[in-house]
Amino acid sequence: MRSIEVPEYEVHDEVRVDPSRAALVVVDMQNDFVKDGGSLLVPDAEGTVPNVRGLLNLARENGMKVVFTQDTHNEGDPEWEIWPEHAREGSWGWEIVEELAPLAGETVIRKVRYDAFYGTALDHLLRTWGIETLVICGTVANICVHYTAASAALRWFEVVIPRDATSALYPFDLESSLRQTSFLFGGKVTHMVNMRLTR
Ligand code: ZN
Repeated sequence: MRSIEVPEYEVHDEVRVDPSRAALVVVDMQNDFVKDGGSLLVPDAEGTVPNVRGLLNLARENGMKVVFTQDTHNEGDPEWEIWPEHAREGSWGWEIVEELAPLAGETVIRKVRYDAFYGTALDHLLRTWGIETLVICGTVANICVHYTAASAALRWFEVVIPRDATSALYPFDLESSLRQTSFLFGGKVTHMVNMRLTR
C-alpha cells in the first residue's frame, strides 16, 4: 500500500445554473448498484438517494430537463467479462430505484457502456433542447458518472457535479474522478445544497 495526498481542487460554495439551459443527469441509480441484493453494489450509493432526490425535486420545480441513464446489458455482453453480471435488461437489478423513478415524459437513456453519449441519442437531445450545462449525479463516480462527464466536457458542455450525490466503491476513486472533473474538464464540484437555479 502506498499513500499519496489528494491534490487540492476547488469545491464551490455556490454554483448558479440557468434551469432553462441545463439538464440534470441521474446516472445508473439502478437496484444492482444501489440496493442490498444488487449484483454490483456500491455501498455508499443508497446513502446518496436523498440528495439525488433533492436534485430531482429542484430540477422538476424549476422546469429543468431531467435525463436518467440506465445501464443495460444482455447475454454475451463483454462488460460482464470485466464486471459481474449486472443490469440485465428486464431484471429487477436493471430497474431504476423506486425512490427515483422517472416521471412520465422524462427521458431515460439506455446505455451499453460507461459513457452515456456512446451509441445513444443523448447529444442530439441535449442540442435540440438548447442545453449548455449538465448537472451530473448518481453512480459510479469514477466510472459511468466520470465517463459521461468526460464525454460531455469534450463536447463543451459545462459540467457540474454535486459531490454528495455521487458515490464510488473506494474513496480514492471518488477523489481522483472529482479532481479530474475540476482539473481536466474545467468542471465544477459542489454540494447539493449549494446549487442555485436562477434564470
Ligand atoms: Zn454496465
